[in-house]
Amino acid sequence: MDAINLLIRHDIKPSLQRLAVMDYMLTHATHPTVDEIYHALAPSIPTLSKTTVYNTLKLFEDQGVITYLGIDSKNARFDGNMKPHGHFRCKECGSIYDVWSEQPAVEKLEGLEDVTVTEVHTYYKGYCKSCHAKIVTN
Ligand SMILES: [Zn+2]
Ligand SMILES: [Zn+2]
Repeated sequence: MDAINLLIRHDIKPSLQRLAVMDYMLTHATHPTVDEIYHALAPSIPTLSKTTVYNTLKLFEDQGVITYLGIDSKNARFDGNMKPHGHFRCKECGSIYDVWSEQPAVEKLEGLEDVTVTEVHTYYKGYCKSCHAKIVTN
């Protein structure tokens, strides 16, 4: 689905800036930070501010168009892929990779029998292939 239809479907008025941010989220699977999105879009949208980018992402998150990722304690990261998946973060270079696996059925988990789960976050941390190779050879 393209950015404009996605926003309309989630009751978000598609302003120029919102469309640009949504389009960026749909075309970058890098789990970008506010800064990354701002620096990518600012040259073509001179009126854009970091606050606008942040507020836009918060709105998208509230409306269920994107997910906030707490995997990186220094930077808030956002994911435009709403299919359930986990994440791996490299402690050395900071790259975040998608991890696709069968999630355990939440209704079978102890303590979650009587609640309604709307989000599941699975985080793995460690060293990516190239960072691991660097550490081993040094
Ligand atoms: Zn790495
Ligand atoms: Zn992801």
